[in-house]
Amino acid sequence: MDVACRVSETNKMSSSDSCKDSASKLLSNDTICEVNNKMQCMSTADKDNEDISICVNCGKEGDNINKLKSCTACKLVKYCSRECQIAHRPQHKKECRKRAAELHDEVLFKQPSPEDDCPICFIRIPTLWKGYTYKTCCGKTICIGCALAPVYDDQGNEIAEVKCPFCRTPAPTSDEEIVERYKKRVEAGDVYAMYSVGCYCKDGMPGYPQDQTKALELFHRAADLGYAKAYNNIGYEYEVGTCVERDMKKANHYYEIAAIRGSSSARHNLGSKEEEAGNMDRALKHFMIAVGSGYSGSLRHIQKLYSDGHVTKEDYTKSLQSYQAYLGEVKNRERDQAAASFGGEKYRYC
Ligand SMILES: [Zn+2]
Ligand SMILES: [Zn+2]
Ligand SMILES: [Zn+2]
Ligand SMILES: [Zn+2]
Repeated sequence: MDVACRVSETNKMSSSDSCKDSASKLLSNDTICEVNNKMQCMSTADKDNEDISICVNCGKEGDNINKLKSCTACKLVKYCSRECQIAHRPQHKKECRKRAAELHDEVLFKQPSPEDDCPICFIRIPTLWKGYTYKTCCGKTICIGCALAPVYDDQGNEIAEVKCPFCRTPAPTSDEEIVERYKKRVEAGDVYAMYSVGCYCKDGMPGYPQDQTKALELFHRAADLGYAKAYNNIGYEYEVGTCVERDMKKANHYYEIAAIRGSSSARHNLGSKEEEAGNMDRALKHFMIAVGSGYSGSLRHIQKLYSDGHVTKEDYTKSLQSYQAYLGEVKNRERDQAAASFGGEKYRYC
């Protein structure tokens, strides 16, 4: 079995991913979107301040029966009633917005957890899509080093292995079989399969007639289950307005959730958007996080910001160290060999 065939399941992803990435760079200069419920759920500071037990408007004390309610946006103050909250609004508005923005940023600028380890070699999976392959048999994402590792018979001769290196199921032999396997994975609630089929429906692929509405529906299903890239694609749909009404505020909202949940391309695009708007501090924060996840495009942006005098040497050095640390985590001999067999690019995201 040749290399091209064995990585075909992964390669199917490439066109929609790269198309989406480049188009996402066209983001407008609108800045941070509203803090909404989903974000607040993720907030580390999302807990009531137990010290405040007096309605900030009328001074009434709360107790176990008459509980005071916190301002949901800032969590700084409490009220005994909706009326008190409305009455207090004019004097609270400014402080509330400031704190809500701080809470929003605390969530937004957190380094997301790294990608899962490969279930075979137990080393962190590279971020670059060429660095892994998804298996429709078992739903595992396997690093390319393990996926393409040579297989030997009892006599030590290399043999053409056509089984999944994780579950030993023979590789699919036709597009129909791939479609059927994806269908089963989607039915089993596999978010990667939902996202992938969404991408295929969006672009139109063998076995998947182009269907934008179905694509968006699948992205929403995967997003509801927490899949970062699906949030990114929904954001993109709101940005381009192909099958939903164009809405940059919603687009940004979805891009931010995607970035928070670990989508490096969403993170990079948010950084680029801040850079275009002249918010270099915020741009740097985004780029730093993306570099920590292996996104080399963000490293190039930091380099440019440094040469233009927007970023200190310390920050630039920090970004280089962060990228080296990422490489140190994902590199190994098998992955290098696999990468060499299909044209060299190893761990860079873009
Ligand atoms: Zn009150
Ligand atoms: Zn408030
Ligand atoms: Zn592996
Ligand atoms: Zn398998």
